[in-house]
Amino acid sequence: MPTPYALRMTLPDGQQLDLGEQETVGSVLRRWAPKEAPRFLAALVDGRPVDLDYRPNVSGALAPLTFEDRQGWEILQHSSAHLVAKAVVATVPEALPTVGPPTDDGFYYDFDVRPLTPPDLEKIRAAMDAAIAHDEPFVRRELPRDRANELFRSNAYKLRYIAEAPADETISVYDTGEFSDLCRGPHVPSTRWLTGVHVLGFSAIEAGEDHPRPLQRIRGVGFPTREGLAGYLKMREEAAARDHRVIGQRQELFMFTEQAPGFPFWLPNGMVIVRELEKFVTEHLRKAGYSEIRTPLLFSKSVYQTSGHWDHYRENMFVSTVDDQEYGWKPMNCPGAMMIFGSRPRSYRELPLRLAEFAPLHRREASGTLHGLMRVRELVQDDAHIFLTEEQIEPEIRVLLDWIREACATFRLSYEFELSTRPATFLGEAGDWDRAEATLQRILRDSGAQFRLSAGEGAFYGPKVDIHIRDSLGRPWQTGTIQLDYQQPKRFHLEYQGPDGTLHTPVVVHRTILGTWERFTGVLTEHVAGRWPPWLAPVQVKVLPVTDRQADGARAVTEELAAAGLRVQLGASDATLPKRIREAELDRVPYVVVVGDRELAAGAVSVRLRGSRESRTMSRAEFLAHVTDRVRRREFEP
Ligand SMILES: [Zn+2]
Ligand SMILES: [Zn+2]
Repeated sequence: MPTPYALRMTLPDGQQLDLGEQETVGSVLRRWAPKEAPRFLAALVDGRPVDLDYRPNVSGALAPLTFEDRQGWEILQHSSAHLVAKAVVATVPEALPTVGPPTDDGFYYDFDVRPLTPPDLEKIRAAMDAAIAHDEPFVRRELPRDRANELFRSNAYKLRYIAEAPADETISVYDTGEFSDLCRGPHVPSTRWLTGVHVLGFSAIEAGEDHPRPLQRIRGVGFPTREGLAGYLKMREEAAARDHRVIGQRQELFMFTEQAPGFPFWLPNGMVIVRELEKFVTEHLRKAGYSEIRTPLLFSKSVYQTSGHWDHYRENMFVSTVDDQEYGWKPMNCPGAMMIFGSRPRSYRELPLRLAEFAPLHRREASGTLHGLMRVRELVQDDAHIFLTEEQIEPEIRVLLDWIREACATFRLSYEFELSTRPATFLGEAGDWDRAEATLQRILRDSGAQFRLSAGEGAFYGPKVDIHIRDSLGRPWQTGTIQLDYQQPKRFHLEYQGPDGTLHTPVVVHRTILGTWERFTGVLTEHVAGRWPPWLAPVQVKVLPVTDRQADGARAVTEELAAAGLRVQLGASDATLPKRIREAELDRVPYVVVVGDRELAAGAVSVRLRGSRESRTMSRAEFLAHVTDRVRRREFEP
């Protein structure tokens, strides 16, 4: 007999399927797409990730998650972390698991345990392999708090997480075999899914307030298959050869010190690149009608209370005391821009008002997450705030998308967009959010751009479109962002006089295109493997005399090129010519110019383009015209 209370699930293609009496979302998904089903590792019910054996009690939207989805990928990483914890506890029984989240590039799990050793790691790996071979299911249990407290009575960390969980939250644990871990889930169905898991290593995490002795962190990355892991390991090898930290040191681009962890020092060569990037961006700003501003680095707490950062971003801020008042180092440029807009009455005729600011920003990233230029504590963005009317949003964002296209083409980077929607804690009215999300989605669709949706990942003040670029190894990097903000303008009481004479609140677009100079330079270093396009190369031309006899002639060539605005270095004649040419090639200099007697007599130079084994003889004027033209047009290759 058909039940009058059948639940109806709506699948991504609009199909509706009833959920049978004993059915789970996994079985509905299998009926919906039997061929693809083996790739489903979890599901989304109304945008919320759940296990495949979850059974909803209301009708709603249902979508599968695979390893290819960011959320699916994270679920597999986190499941891998559980597997590590299970293996650690089996190997060193007194170990206390703390937390094991997914990260940008895998997962980690921190343990309160004596220092681990390489033999421990071998045993841990073996225990993981055994659990994978047994294909143990991840089983979810929901527990009353007293039962949960009993279960974790010997682990003070887990007891604290239970105590800190909101009172209305159901406490759940996941069992894999004998091992239970406190966890919200969801997880992959079973350990077979973790066949391609790889433990990268372990390290000690400095002691903190909540853990008096250093924790031992095990890092790794998970793949559903061995082939997936093999491909990743190969790419990793390739990536290590391009590591921006290694190239940055060799090319003297930047450095870090222990006295200022996460705070980059830009060396002269790196600064050349930063200035060229700045010029590239500034040229666009001029064409697109922006003005530049500079606002304070420090603001009193009250400013951040108005902007919302104090409530929503404070743990990422550096705070100082000045005149007995709490001040915060700005983590973003928004408050200063808002204050400038609000500093006098504004008219609709001034809109869109585009204010760009390249100021140093400070963010208190955890020391364990710092990574060369990719994650730093002091950074500069190609940032701007655009104040506009609701009707101006669409054309403005279209211009931004065009600019992103153009910028990425210059660097030969491919990209895709990620639209992130309303997070759990947000400012303002849900209605404003819905409208803004719909607008962004429409613009992205119309533009034909590649984009994916991340439910609940928006900034606290509005939805955002993040730009993910892919480097030459196909690795994704988040760089720029376009964020729509209906909240901060209200909180700062910003107004403009409309054509009707009444006052209106502007909308604000926060946007960066390249993102930060730090991360963008880091990504670019690895993307080009240190072979800078001529316009960015710290040294564009290296001039080598064949022997000492041509030293004066080579100096004259150097001076001539430098006078034309090129960055030229005169090489000594301290080694054989082939050796010096090889050296310049290792330095990745785009143009190597050799000056011998014959060239000097003819007013010519012998030129080797980077990557070419041949040299060609050109007149000096011809060479100069070639290089300056390539540089002016920002060509990618010499
Ligand atoms: Zn978990
Ligand atoms: Zn902003």
